[in-house]
Amino acid sequence: KFITFEGIDGAGKSTHIAFVGDYLKNKGIKLVSSREPGGTPLGEKLRDLVLHEKMHLETEALLMFASRREHIAQVIEPALHSGAWAISDRFTDASFAYQGGGRGMDLAKLEALEQWVHPHLQPDLTLLFDVPLEVARARLDATRSLDKFEQEKADFFAATRNEYLRRATQFPARFRVIDSTQSIPDIQLRIAGILDEMLA
Ligand code: C5P
Repeated sequence: KFITFEGIDGAGKSTHIAFVGDYLKNKGIKLVSSREPGGTPLGEKLRDLVLHEKMHLETEALLMFASRREHIAQVIEPALHSGAWAISDRFTDASFAYQGGGRGMDLAKLEALEQWVHPHLQPDLTLLFDVPLEVARARLDATRSLDKFEQEKADFFAATRNEYLRRATQFPARFRVIDSTQSIPDIQLRIAGILDEMLA
């Protein structure tokens, strides 16, 4: 199985990714865990460029998909073929949400890239951690110094969040929207329930 984690910056994704990893390992599942942009040595170099350099919007999208191409070939597909589960901190939904929703790139172009890079691969489950913008912003300010995306204005994140939610409605079979304003134990209970369904 292939599980992805999505949400705007500050939605609390990282805490829950660690929980999912531990939960599945405790169930005896072999697991390969990675992130995007990144996931491979080349992908991490691309991540560094994309997060810190100013560039044309479409260059940014192309580099995201270049990183993804490598990630799929080197990490996700080998994991799935070996019978392990792959879990990725962000995947193509993030390109639609950030480059599409947030930056306004033509969604049809992103669909074309998706068709090119992974015509047949889709996550079996996408956990979307959703919080109101003010909550996300307060969490970010409290925890770390911000990269170029995280310094964006509220309307960027509003558009990013809306695109995530729109995709969750568009692909209800694989998306589960988690209300990330709930307490961590409550969220973990919900996630455990979702994973148990997959394991059944
Ligand atoms: O999830 P993580 O914090 O590692 O993401 C790194 C940064 O890259 C975030 O600020 C996120 O908003 C941004 N990003 C993006 N477009 C993507 C994936 C991530 O702008 N497709």
